Amino acid sequence: MSSEKLILDGTRVAKSIKETLVERIDHLTARGILPCLATILVGDDPSSETYVRMKSSSCKRLGIDSRRIHLNKAITTEELIAAIQQLNADPQIHGILLQHPVPPHIDERAAFEAIQIDKDVDGVTMQGFAQNAFGTANFPSCTPAAILAILDYYQLPIEGKHAVIVGRSPILGKPVSLMLLNRNATVTICHSKTNNLPQIIGLADIVVAAVGKPSFIQGAWIKEGAIVLDAGYNAGNIGDVDYKACYIKASAITPVPAGIGPVTIAMLLKHTVFAAEKSKMLT
Ligand code: NAP
Repeated sequence: MSSEKLILDGTRVAKSIKETLVERIDHLTARGILPCLATILVGDDPSSETYVRMKSSSCKRLGIDSRRIHLNKAITTEELIAAIQQLNADPQIHGILLQHPVPPHIDERAAFEAIQIDKDVDGVTMQGFAQNAFGTANFPSCTPAAILAILDYYQLPIEGKHAVIVGRSPILGKPVSLMLLNRNATVTICHSKTNNLPQIIGLADIVVAAVGKPSFIQGAWIKEGAIVLDAGYNAGNIGDVDYKACYIKASAITPVPAGIGPVTIAMLLKHTVFAAEKSKMLT
């Protein structure tokens, strides 16, 4: 089995996605449209600052404009919503990304809902979530979309497979479950109240780790030959999967870093370009 073992290279997948965008960006800029992503960071959490900086510099490298809005951590929900509404109304902004998490006193759901659907490039609104559930979303959440993109790039079959998703957050666990279901996987969603988690994971052909706990998924839980997708990103570049132990059992596995992370950013860029194309069609 080891000779067939695949390390699912997110950098390679991201590169292939970005290559498809170059011509589209050229085409837009030739018509006077510079695709632009607005990122909103509230407060000064160092990891969030790093993520936002990475997203902005990825935009720049590809010729996408970005506008970074950095708001004081003491801002109110109303003030944050007002800032989002300004970006909604700005025709030069095509995508809006509110970096998660926001400080606890802010109503994050209300802030996400303030993002106009045609600028919701990270699929965080309830409308975007519902469209994703129906398989009609222009902008499915970026990390779930990245997971599907990796499976597709490596031509790993989804239909008929048993996918076990560990985590049920609205930006990751739930939407990726729906996307895999829409692709005819049989899906089991696990969470912090799930009983017999190791046994359930042991039934999976595809495991998606979206837990937020370093090295949580154990090698002993993984069925021989399963595909392991680690969406986790914890301090010290550690995923949610015990990589060394799971690598031994898996037929294919994403590393951390250079797994799902770079593909998530590529998806964000792809969605921003698509939003810019659609804005042109509307004018
Ligand atoms: P989250 O909102 O904290 O959700 C974590 C989920 O894990 C919850 O549904 C929780 O269950 C479940 N969980 C917690 N402890 C568990 C346990 N012992 N057994 C089973 N399930 C358990 O996190 P998130 O935003 O979805 O992020 C998950 C991970 O993905 C994090 O490491 C995050 O950094 C990473 N992430 C990566 C990217 C990327 O670009 N690669 C993007 C987004 C997030 P309950 O619902 O019962 O609480």
